[in-house]
Amino acid sequence: MLIVMDKGVTDREIQAVVKRIEDLGYKANPIPGAQRVAIGITGNQTPLDPEEFEAMPGVKEAIRVTKPYKLVSREMKGEDTVLSVRGREVGGRHLAVIAGPCAVENEEQALAIGQLVAAAGANFFRGGAFKPRTSPYSFQGLGEPGLRILAKVRDATGLPIVTEAMDLEAVSLVEEYADVIQIGARNMQNFSLLKRVGKSRLPVFLKRGIAATMDELLMSAEYVAAEGNYRIMLCERGVRTFADHARNTLDLSVVPAVKHLSHLPILVDPSHGTGRRDRVPPLARAAIAVGADGIMVEVHDHPEKALSDGPQAMYPDQFAELVKDLRAMAPLVSRTF
Ligand code: PEP
Ligand code: MN
Repeated sequence: MLIVMDKGVTDREIQAVVKRIEDLGYKANPIPGAQRVAIGITGNQTPLDPEEFEAMPGVKEAIRVTKPYKLVSREMKGEDTVLSVRGREVGGRHLAVIAGPCAVENEEQALAIGQLVAAAGANFFRGGAFKPRTSPYSFQGLGEPGLRILAKVRDATGLPIVTEAMDLEAVSLVEEYADVIQIGARNMQNFSLLKRVGKSRLPVFLKRGIAATMDELLMSAEYVAAEGNYRIMLCERGVRTFADHARNTLDLSVVPAVKHLSHLPILVDPSHGTGRRDRVPPLARAAIAVGADGIMVEVHDHPEKALSDGPQAMYPDQFAELVKDLRAMAPLVSRTF
């Protein structure tokens, strides 16, 4: 249930509502960014009676939230969530472009690609120091030394860093060096990891699982929000289907569906979504056209030598072209970039 308070509500009245919720054994969650003060109630197993709260001083109305995800739903918060990361905004009218190599391979490579994507107009740098690979014999990432390189890329380019944490130990390391924690597709339902990043001060970039429904994605986001971290960006990266012409099937239809149900920003990753660099620009443009809040793409200066995901990494000049296209498209979809 969502308790919406009157415009002129006093602190005392808010505290009384919070106390009432806690006395009933539930959790009171202040909803950030709302024009009015609003408090979300979670933890109740059965529906609450709105009248119990509507009679209290300072309460405008109590609204039942019908969806299983509460804190991330539009029912709880009508307006779009806008995150700010080192001055870069994601969500609302802003378009975010997150780019970089699949993996940090060495300092020279990461710095070179960082400079190239920054010059082309990316607003976040992404590279993996911990890589989830299908084979245990494939390159697994550089680990902490890779994170140190990422911090150098941020110093050199000014771009905030997005990087994946695959386990609890890595979350603490990523918190030391980076600006956004990526939770990869394979970990979308790693609930202990979700709870841990829910306690982080860093925003979370949450990728949809390879066979996850939209509701499951939103429930995973709810795990993060339930621990107090509302700074979540969702990411569609393609799902498994019978189609075998692409690495995955990029489900762009999920974008407007998520936007309808949730206030969280959703980005699209056409690199993992297609697995082929020539398919990335058209699907990146399509993603923006259907209302995505940005894209995440892989770029490499020597993709033929990349230690992971070379075939889907764009050449830097291809990326620069794509950014130009997105700049031209932005006003058509009422976005700034
Ligand atoms: C990645 O972003 O590099 C990655 C491994 O993606 P996903 O978790 O979507 O497979
Ligand atoms: Mn990759």
